[in-house]
Amino acid sequence: MPASPDLAPESTGADLHALVARLFPIARSITGAGVRESLAILRERIPLEVREIPTGTPVFDWTVPKEWVLRGATLTAPDGRVVADAARHNLEVLNYSAPFFGRVPLAELRKNLHSLPAQPDLVPYRTSYYQQRWGFCLPHRVVESLPEGEYEVAIDTAHVEGSLAYGELVLPGASDREILVSAHCCHPSLANDNLSGMVVAAALAARLAARGERRHTWRFLWAPGTIGAIAWLATHAEERRRVVAALVLAGLGAPGPFHYKTSRDGRSLLDREIPKALAASGETLHVEPFVPFGYDERQFDSPGVGIAAGCFSRTPYGRYAEYHTSADDLDFVRPEALEGALRALAGVVDRIESRETWVNLLPQGEPQLGSRGLYRTLGGDDAGRERELARLWVLNLSDGANSVEEIVERSGISPLRIREAIDDLAAAGLLERRT
Ligand code: ZN
Repeated sequence: MPASPDLAPESTGADLHALVARLFPIARSITGAGVRESLAILRERIPLEVREIPTGTPVFDWTVPKEWVLRGATLTAPDGRVVADAARHNLEVLNYSAPFFGRVPLAELRKNLHSLPAQPDLVPYRTSYYQQRWGFCLPHRVVESLPEGEYEVAIDTAHVEGSLAYGELVLPGASDREILVSAHCCHPSLANDNLSGMVVAAALAARLAARGERRHTWRFLWAPGTIGAIAWLATHAEERRRVVAALVLAGLGAPGPFHYKTSRDGRSLLDREIPKALAASGETLHVEPFVPFGYDERQFDSPGVGIAAGCFSRTPYGRYAEYHTSADDLDFVRPEALEGALRALAGVVDRIESRETWVNLLPQGEPQLGSRGLYRTLGGDDAGRERELARLWVLNLSDGANSVEEIVERSGISPLRIREAIDDLAAAGLLERRT
């Protein structure tokens, strides 16, 4: 374990980019060997646990699917030319494709080809997890130039009884109030979406693990998108109640300003602290309201779960031309962008860890302050009135959610007076430190 957080592994942009490069060629999907291989690489750096949920397990309204095995996938033209080959680029096979072997005429083949007419040189990323079909993804330019004739299709895949794997790391703190950090790990060779998120989350976890003490408990998840988050939530009813806020990390490696999509209610501690942390470090941040679309924030912040979840990214998904194409590659993600994202998130973590919160131990009505010598029994001076008001603000806002800094901001009373009120109320047994 590194002695100082600043010496944590993967803390430089070059290290982060090298880790993205190592993970890049692996053929990941929502299940299968690719996810396990990727988690094993992260596990060389941080002590994450790889957990498995068996095929067929009901998880809320979903069922853990069969595991996808990809042994190879090629498409050969009538002239013997190999038009698509998953070994060359794993985007070239439809992710989760059903197996298929046979010769098909061009008209029939075309129904199973996916391409991007507006970006004719790029291979699109396409999936079919929940409907059995076979297919290839190709540059539109290639699709347009295919000659008539019979094509040889060899998609050597299988859907087998197995399990869904995800990675989890819990870093306990003085409080069992948890912050959940999550990154999806199911995309194949796509660097920004979301190897950048996986790698930055791992580096952030390494930094937190190296910290001598933590006030909050931090939980990191590397899980396949949608089904992974749902599977974790469905199997962790107890744990999820301790999560006070969740942060989904995605798209952090391509240049572009930071964006934060708030939680559903827009008032979580991350909603409040992230803008302050980025402002303190002089970073531009675009804050956007919640929409029930995007990454796993929409699973965490579904009404029956109610974990306030936001999403932190650079340019958000779908707003860059490289999104879900073969152009989301190792040149598209930049060491300095990865390093900047890690630095920004380290600032967020430091702010959250330095948050001081207290709990009012007699929160039903006001406690009787007069009997404890904490309230005037006779008319007092201005300083006495301010002292009282400070105590009332501290009692009223000490629900474990508001920080001392926020009590100062909201009350407009000086930090010194608020501190004095906390000390007096704690000494009288009316307040207890939460984080
Ligand atoms: Zn994606």
